[in-house]
Parts: sequence; structure tokens; C-alpha cells
Amino acid sequence: MGKGKRRRNARGHFCWCCGRHRPNERFGGRGHRDHVCRDCQRLPAEELSFRQVVRNMERRVDGDGRIRRKARPRLDPFLKHSMRRVREHAEKLLRQDAEVRAELREAYRREEEALERVLQEEERLREEGSGEEAPIQANCWADLPF
Ligand SMILES: [Zn+2]
Repeated sequence: MGKGKRRRNARGHFCWCCGRHRPNERFGGRGHRDHVCRDCQRLPAEELSFRQVVRNMERRVDGDGRIRRKARPRLDPFLKHSMRRVREHAEKLLRQDAEVRAELREAYRREEEALERVLQEEERLREEGSGEEAPIQANCWADLPF
């Protein structure tokens, strides 16, 4: 799916509805102007408007499934949309956004922990290698709660 690639070539059009690049003969009349192929033009009006709304919603979502903070309020109207499918889709996108963000946070936390371990290990090796026992002892005493 050449998403975002709006090639203007003689060989066809991009149908926003099914997300396919299709040859000219798959479009006709209004279809050319509306960028809807013949197959999609035959869909029930409700299905067409659902897809249009979904397309508007998914414009707010990035490749990772995240919705930028600024774009999130734009999804609010869809949560109150008259079509149940639209409401459910908006909820799904928000859920997915929350999941991706949680995963990224977790990955970041693990990375921080791993880095911390490396730094501690380096510190330990440096202290072992230097053979200076005294300052470490002093530090240990300093930590005791009395
Ligand atoms: Zn189509």
C-alpha cells in the first residue's frame, strides 16, 4: 500500500477507501474526482462514511500507533459519534495509543536499569582495581543509620 505516495501518473489512482492504487479503468465518473474506485462506490453509504471517518481518525495516529498529545483532543468528537462503530474505533485507537506508550515507557525503564547496572559494575571494578580500600570503608560507615 503506497500510503501517502500520491503519484499522479497515467496508470491509475489511489482509492482512499480501500487504500489501493488502482488502474484508471477501476474508476469512473464521480469516482475519479472523489478518489473512490468502482468497487468502493458500490459500498453502502454507511460503510463509505464509516471508512471516511476512520481515515480522518487514523490521520492522527503515527506509524507506531501513537497519537500525538496535541492530536488527542481531536478524537473526542469521535468518542461521541452517532455511529457505534466509529465510537468503538476511536476507543480502540486510544487503547492502542496507551498500550504503545506503556510499552515504550517500560522499554525505557529497562534501558535505564541496564545502564545503571553497567555504571555500578564499572564503579566496582574501578574501586577494586585502585586497591584503595579506605575510602570505601568510610562510605560504608557513613551510610549506617546512627
Ligand atoms: Zn476502492
